[in-house]
Amino acid sequence: MAPIPPTDAPQPIKDVLDSIEKQFELSDERLKQITAHFVTMYRRGLQHGHEPMAMIPTYVTGVPDGSETGTFMAVDLGGTNFRVCEVQLLGDHKFSLKQKKFKVTEELKTGPAVDLFDYMASCIGDFMKELGNPPEDECLHLGMTFSFPVEQTALGAGRLLTWTKGFSATGAIGNDVVQLLQDSLDKKRVAAKCVALVNDTVGTLLTRGYLTGSCFLGAIFGTGTNGAYVEDLSSITKLKKLDAATRKADKMIINTEWGAFDNARHVLPITRWDNALDRISINPRYQAFEKLISGMYLGEIARNILIYLIDLPPIPGSNPPQHYLFRGHSTKKFNTQYGFDTELMSRIKNDSSPEAVRELLVNEMGFTDYQISDLDTQIVAWICDLVANRSAALSGCAVAATLVQCGYCEVGGGPGSKEVDSALELGVDGSLVEFYPGFEEALRKSLRAIVGEKMEQLVKVGMAKDGSGVGAALCALVATKNEQHS
Ligand code: ADP
Ligand code: MG
Repeated sequence: MAPIPPTDAPQPIKDVLDSIEKQFELSDERLKQITAHFVTMYRRGLQHGHEPMAMIPTYVTGVPDGSETGTFMAVDLGGTNFRVCEVQLLGDHKFSLKQKKFKVTEELKTGPAVDLFDYMASCIGDFMKELGNPPEDECLHLGMTFSFPVEQTALGAGRLLTWTKGFSATGAIGNDVVQLLQDSLDKKRVAAKCVALVNDTVGTLLTRGYLTGSCFLGAIFGTGTNGAYVEDLSSITKLKKLDAATRKADKMIINTEWGAFDNARHVLPITRWDNALDRISINPRYQAFEKLISGMYLGEIARNILIYLIDLPPIPGSNPPQHYLFRGHSTKKFNTQYGFDTELMSRIKNDSSPEAVRELLVNEMGFTDYQISDLDTQIVAWICDLVANRSAALSGCAVAATLVQCGYCEVGGGPGSKEVDSALELGVDGSLVEFYPGFEEALRKSLRAIVGEKMEQLVKVGMAKDGSGVGAALCALVATKNEQHS
């Protein structure tokens, strides 16, 4: 059962809900305005360093076609998990992959960086032992997916610019993360050599390319959000020094770091509940776009709105006093920052019946049956959907801006400089887009409003499952080839 607007609510409650809804509404005009500003920021980031939208050159100069082969190790430090994989690229658009996930604890996220990298090296060592790899005196080549803003100087080197997504490990910013991992691997005598560094968005783009033969954009909607797309090398005017391998190329994949779009807050529809989230986040005023969109934050925005409703004084004149939500009660869990996980929003969207929502609030949030009316369950489901829909709509702006930047169309749907005669592959990854019911549909609705139905229909969205592993393996392959040629 899908969420329905709580139309049976008493008028004062309806009025409050209406006013919340208005603040989450995005007209077609507003979506276009946001997209236009997005394109401007794209171009600025390609011209200048030190822009919030960093537009990071990745030194990856092509998208695979599915014929690539070889066996590589790959690791992925996302926001929530650390994954270690062995990837076999089989050619013919196929691969096989063995993997193990490890949890990244709060201590590791926020303690000394050397502990974090030592931990990663130990996980890699353990997994290799389990696989029986490698044979004596052979050193496996490894690609690292690292989903944080890194200034890359080559395929296998890059300095961490800043942490995001709740990380703050000390001693990493400004350092080469490949070297940090290699130091830990050497220290722990793990026979692996890290040869390539790749952002998860790039991995997603490469994987989708490997699977389908082409891809124009890789986008992440997980703990954070970000995108990488294929740019003309000549448009990346800030890129002055090129190595020999790159000079021959005419394209380069750009890691946009779009999570930082509009940190200046010129066009984003930021509400009081977003401000409440931002103010006590570990990076206030940064990652403005990401904080409206990604899995780490959606549950928290919804929680902030629900807490606001709980805290409103009872409806004037009501006797006995009637509260707006949960009879004015909250719980210890529900009062906790990030206490309401985005995953719960997916479960609520999957089944918004009063029974299901009540059960979830009781079991997961510690409410009692008595505190939750049927109307309350409707309000909760409706608020969650409001927050998720805004996320998907804004995600549509990012996709639309990339279509425009690539020359496929104009904002509004007019033709761009490039003719489009076949489907445009958009590779996506992340739990939000994978599991939130209707996320893609809502994103498409927004895309349609910005670039018209004809263009929207040309975009083919596909999960790049295991993207980070395959992408890192593909980069390790390129790096290994470059090494052999130089
Ligand atoms: P990472 O970003 O570390 O690669 P994921 O893509 O799995 O990891 O994203 C994790 C984020 O997705 C968390 O913030 C979590 O709240 C959210 N999440 C996990 N499961 C779901 C789900 N079923 N629906 C929506 N969001 C989810
Ligand atoms: Mg991920």
